[in-house]
Amino acid sequence: MSQSVFPLAGGQWLGMLGGGQLGRMFVHAAQAMGYRVAVLDPAADSPAGAAADRQIVAAYDDAVGLDALAAQCAAVSTEFENVPAASLQRLAAAGVRVGPAGEAVAITQDRIAEKAFVASQGVPVAPHVAVRSVADLSAAPDALFPGILKLASLGYDGKGQAVVADREQAVAAFREFGGAACVLEARLELAYEVSIVVARDFEGRHVAYPVSRNIHRNGILAVSAAPAPGLPAALAEEVERIGLTLVAGLDYRGVLCIEFFVLRDGSLVVNEMAPRPHNSGHYTIDACLCSQFEQQARVLAGLPLGATRALAPSVMLNILGDAWFATGEQREPDWAGMLAVPGSRLHLYGKREPRVGRKMGHITCVGVSMTQALAGARAVGGILG
Ligand code: ADP
Ligand code: MG
Repeated sequence: MSQSVFPLAGGQWLGMLGGGQLGRMFVHAAQAMGYRVAVLDPAADSPAGAAADRQIVAAYDDAVGLDALAAQCAAVSTEFENVPAASLQRLAAAGVRVGPAGEAVAITQDRIAEKAFVASQGVPVAPHVAVRSVADLSAAPDALFPGILKLASLGYDGKGQAVVADREQAVAAFREFGGAACVLEARLELAYEVSIVVARDFEGRHVAYPVSRNIHRNGILAVSAAPAPGLPAALAEEVERIGLTLVAGLDYRGVLCIEFFVLRDGSLVVNEMAPRPHNSGHYTIDACLCSQFEQQARVLAGLPLGATRALAPSVMLNILGDAWFATGEQREPDWAGMLAVPGSRLHLYGKREPRVGRKMGHITCVGVSMTQALAGARAVGGILG
């Protein structure tokens, strides 16, 4: 749809490529502001599709589906970093406002290009080499071992990664990955991990949310606390400065998350970027005036960026399918028990089938202090198992 007038009036259509939980929470936020949302996803029963005003069931690179989305919507975003950049470019060519642009997404989709971009902005990344052949592994510096071999593209939640003690294991892992392009990076001694969600609009204005401190289990985010407890103020400022540098450097439009490692010596390293709202930013729904999803909708609609300040400290716990199998046989988790914990809020994504490792929902515990939010999270976590 061309010649849309921004800011978009209520009732106009926003489009979402991807039907996962991030898209679902976007749908909720956009609808709360009076917009209608069309979701394109290959699955007919996607979490976002179930909430959307219109569902287009098509592959992410399906020309007919993309053209239908373009015909319906004034502006389109994505909730899934592996949507082909060419699909975003096709929508843009049809005259639709697209944020983020395919060019920015293409960088975040490829760990090799991503690390090169981050380094080009003067921001530290983990010591690494690009691996396209066994010869690249033979030439890799000894200092990269023990290391982690990561597929350059299509990995998520720790998938497509292998911890490798030495060169021999790296070669074996590379073969295991079918010889696809990878990065080999040094396994760093992490003190802890943090992330920041930033947003930039089509006029180039930007905002940053408070930094989250994250705990991963088996490569999947488990717990996220914000504003990051124990993070020195100078480091929090540095994370924000880097976040705003990267979002501007990418000429980015939309919501971007940057994951960081804080090393034992207190220095910061960028791990990776996600061209969309992020699991570690879910706390913004319950603890900030304007959530990361509303922010995404505001950017698309051409509305002013919303307030990012945390109104209260919060701790988010992810709910994986594992919670259904805590006793051995499948059983619904004790939601009532968890929601009896003061300050807790439940978000379930409407996925019918719980599976081990599958993100089913999350709970945010909001407190008047971080101590209280952490106590709430401990109580909820005790019931969740
Ligand atoms: P994904 O795309 O699956 O999120 P990441 O590259 O972010 O993959 O890795 C997932 C997690 O694995 C990180 O959050 C961190 O806990 C751990 N990890 C990744 N790379 C390193 C590294 N170089 N050194 C130490 N830990 C790492
Ligand atoms: Mg990650």
